[in-house]
Amino acid sequence: MSQAALILIKPDGLKKSLTGNILTRLSETKLEIVAAKMVRVSDELAIEHYCHLKDKVFFPELVKYIKGELHDRRKVMALIYWGTDAIQKCRDLAGATNPETAESTSIRGSYGRILTSGLYENVIHVSSNESEAQREIKLWFCPEEIIVDLYANHEIIAKEVKKMAWL
Ligand code: UDP
Ligand code: MG
Repeated sequence: MSQAALILIKPDGLKKSLTGNILTRLSETKLEIVAAKMVRVSDELAIEHYCHLKDKVFFPELVKYIKGELHDRRKVMALIYWGTDAIQKCRDLAGATNPETAESTSIRGSYGRILTSGLYENVIHVSSNESEAQREIKLWFCPEEIIVDLYANHEIIAKEVKKMAWL
């Protein structure tokens, strides 16, 4: 069954110039990329994305990490991979959360590390199940940024929305 997975190349992955490498590894899955963009992560987005970990002692540092404050790279690359068993396929390639226990050939095993504070700096985020993927994708993307119809949506007339335009 086709499903979607949110992938984030975290600020350490960008700083270490791993984007091409990670995308090449993920291409082994033969999944389709249906959305991609660079994102400057706000406090609200970071906190909401990691809300399941808000009671952990490392939460404040985790928020700084995903915002890029630990790497002087205030951006992440966000992508949606789509296809059969997308979540399991991408998580298998990413490897375990802890880069020290992740298989050494996995993305996290190859490029992750544990900071002296104990935080896992592990290069990539992958949604862990379908409901988390749906929650995360709706947080990071709006419907018109995705080239397939993933979830129910509707057209609205947005009035007085402040946004940037080309001169
Ligand atoms: N994390 C950490 N220490 C932990 C658990 C998680 O530093 O003991 C960080 C790590 O960067 C991880 C992120 O918090 O990727 C989100 O944790 P989660 O349990 O959702 O793991 P994931 O789904 O990323 O494998
Ligand atoms: Mg997770």
